[in-house]
Amino acid sequence: MKTIALQQFRHDADIAAADGDRRAFIRTALGGYYGVRGATMASYANYPAARAKAAAIKWDALENLGEHLEAFESKLLDRGVKVHWATDAASARGYVLDILHRREAKLVIKSKTMTSEEIHLNDAMEQAGYDVVESDLGELIVQLNKQAPYHFVFPCMHLKRGEIKSIFDKAYGESGSDDPENLTMIARRVLRQQYLRADVGISGANFGVAETGTISITENEGNSRLTCAMPRVHVVLMGIEKIVPRLADLALLQPMLGTAGTGQLMTCYNSLYLGPKRGGEIDGPEEMHVVLLDNGRTRILADSELRDALRCIRCGACLNVCPIFKNVGGHTYGVTYQGPIGAVIEPHLRTVQEFGHLSAASSLCGACTETCPVKIDIHHHLLRNRKKAAKSKRGERAIFGAFTFLMRRPALLRWVGRAAGVIDRLARPLQGSALDPFKAWRQSRTLPSPAPSSFRDYWKSRGRR
Ligand code: SF4
Repeated sequence: MKTIALQQFRHDADIAAADGDRRAFIRTALGGYYGVRGATMASYANYPAARAKAAAIKWDALENLGEHLEAFESKLLDRGVKVHWATDAASARGYVLDILHRREAKLVIKSKTMTSEEIHLNDAMEQAGYDVVESDLGELIVQLNKQAPYHFVFPCMHLKRGEIKSIFDKAYGESGSDDPENLTMIARRVLRQQYLRADVGISGANFGVAETGTISITENEGNSRLTCAMPRVHVVLMGIEKIVPRLADLALLQPMLGTAGTGQLMTCYNSLYLGPKRGGEIDGPEEMHVVLLDNGRTRILADSELRDALRCIRCGACLNVCPIFKNVGGHTYGVTYQGPIGAVIEPHLRTVQEFGHLSAASSLCGACTETCPVKIDIHHHLLRNRKKAAKSKRGERAIFGAFTFLMRRPALLRWVGRAAGVIDRLARPLQGSALDPFKAWRQSRTLPSPAPSSFRDYWKSRGRR
């Protein structure tokens, strides 16, 4: 059955794949990333060993997740942080809306958090009458353009500088040149005013340290620091899989995230948050909240074969190397987490029935698995998802049943091969007409004709048996 999500995917993929100019632009943007990342990886004394260690740390965190989460919560509570366990998106949204209501907030400023995209928090806050401003430059641009992030690390990588200038012209009036520095300065001026007015700051978390109850955030613009420190209230939204056991683990995971994500050895700003400001301190929020989001993650955790997908540190490297992502683009996926890791986890965070098709958006080349800094066996999971999706599809089951039946009967297979050649010759004059049975297929592919003679006949003609 073609679900709405599948129809949307096919429609958007056709459009994106036909846009050669945009695809070339994305390839050029990623070309720079490959070069820088390769050089940074080479600067590690032993990158494969670092990768294995990073995978082991995340694995340890998941294998004892309950224990680590409890330790994390207890440290936070000791320092006056309020902790909310959200089983689903509605619970997380409700909790944040309650805070905004109680604090009589008007303006909310946000730093980059894909978890808030996952729970559609902006829509909920705007519908409730709050002004919401994204402070990460890429996020701000897609927000002004009324789009979702294109890539969970580079949200506006699909937009050219001229397009960004037009978006700024529309939002802020004539912005002058499309020089990136000029556009950045405009965003900076606008955002500084918003920081001064914002009542609540909402951020994500890259890691939550169980040992110390620390929130770790890595970024390149410094906007997250302002979001977390300037408003009176700071709310952290984090998926429960972001836990790491020890503070010392950050010494490896932060550089691994920077290297895989952007090719930097470290991102420019790496901040650690412990709680609201204490008596005598000048800076920091009066109130701090941490929302621990499940929203399907414990389902993945309970599946021993799929569990390692929760090791993901959202570096985005698997998107950057994926031939499908580069051709169909991030919006085509129609979900929060795009690319190979999105194709693995989204069907489980949502439903396999509706989003199982994402696992077919892969060439299974294995580039994603090879690049993942925490060694998630991504293409194995894609194959497994496909198997699950196929089980629930009667049509596919029938096709593969017929294929198995045929392959077990050589005489019948020979006959079908000959018949296919005859049918192809008869159908050829219909090619492109309304009567062409393969018209839809041929729109984006070449349907190869059967060979004039079979391999078996060829073999026989050479006197072999
Ligand atoms: S699956 Fe691996 S490569 Fe992809 S975003 Fe997650 S950590 Fe990065």
